[in-house]
Amino acid sequence: MTTKPRINVPLMSFLMLTPVIGIAGTAVYTWLHGFALWMPLLALGMYLAVGISICAGYHRFFSHKSYEAARPVQIFYAIFGAMAAQNSILWWSSSHRTHHQYVDRDWDPYSIKRGFWWAHILWIFHDHDAPDIEGNARDLAANPIVQWQARWYKVLLIVGGFGLPALIGALCGDVWAGLLWGGFLRLVVIHHTTFFVNSLAHYLGDASFNAEVSARDNWAVALLTLGEGYHSFHHRFPADFRNGIRWFQWDPAKWFIATLRMLGLAHDLRSTPAPQIEQARMQAAVRAVEPQLEHIPAPAAGEIHRLLASAREHLTISITLWRRYAAEHAEGATASWKSTRQYARQHLRLARREWREACRRVNSMPSQTPA
Ligand SMILES: [Zn+2]
Ligand SMILES: [Zn+2]
Repeated sequence: MTTKPRINVPLMSFLMLTPVIGIAGTAVYTWLHGFALWMPLLALGMYLAVGISICAGYHRFFSHKSYEAARPVQIFYAIFGAMAAQNSILWWSSSHRTHHQYVDRDWDPYSIKRGFWWAHILWIFHDHDAPDIEGNARDLAANPIVQWQARWYKVLLIVGGFGLPALIGALCGDVWAGLLWGGFLRLVVIHHTTFFVNSLAHYLGDASFNAEVSARDNWAVALLTLGEGYHSFHHRFPADFRNGIRWFQWDPAKWFIATLRMLGLAHDLRSTPAPQIEQARMQAAVRAVEPQLEHIPAPAAGEIHRLLASAREHLTISITLWRRYAAEHAEGATASWKSTRQYARQHLRLARREWREACRRVNSMPSQTPA
């Protein structure tokens, strides 16, 4: 990245005008010309099709290869993803891979270390060096669907992102309402919710899986973005097709990908084994209490270290058992894999109980002043 990038005036104007047209324009026009139910439904339908193409397509499929998708699905992502006005798959994914590789450092294009608003939108206002496609996106550059989308990106954006909702509006009796609700308002929502992943999900929330980087698990961002808010987990395990791993965590992109698999349109969904996830969670929690742990008097500290050592041992056993279970499952050894997985889970539960108890003891100690 250049040290002082120049401002891209047309792009900045587009990003500043679209919220005015999308929010104020839509409100005033609807006030003057009347409201109908098809208008928010059109905006919602477009939001879902375009949003899922960014989350499950641009991000989890093209950038991270967290599953394999059939060609019709890739074409769907390419067409609807272009309507998000977030550049082509090739550009987006290459920049995103750079973000993961250099997170929080100078080469991270939307590094939170340069401030909340830089990570949210200001970085887009500036001209950047072309993304390092040769270095990190050769696989994508060789994909004919990606090549085709890069060539036709602007046409897809204008015809699909604005022409399509205008056409639907015309069919419903109001071309301008279609353009405003399904085109502009929907675009503003998609833009700023996606931008929140780079800003808010690197700013506010829990560093549950990775204490070393700024990424945070933030359920509010997950709610706004079809599941992309569990960002601490995502930065720790970017190849996982899920972001919210618990059943109650809002992650429609994960459910969408799982549905594609049921329909035979996706396969090889990558997910991280449970003991490795627990290990990351434990490392992040221990890292957070380490400064206090150093000042705890010997007998209590010894007991805490013993608990942590035992938890680590249980996790190592659990990881070994989990690998065995995966091999048995792949071989179709029906009788044994279930019990192997059960043993792996038992060790995982023991580990969790111990590391949580250790952290609880650290936190319950009266704060010690360093000598
Ligand atoms: Zn990130
Ligand atoms: Zn990512």
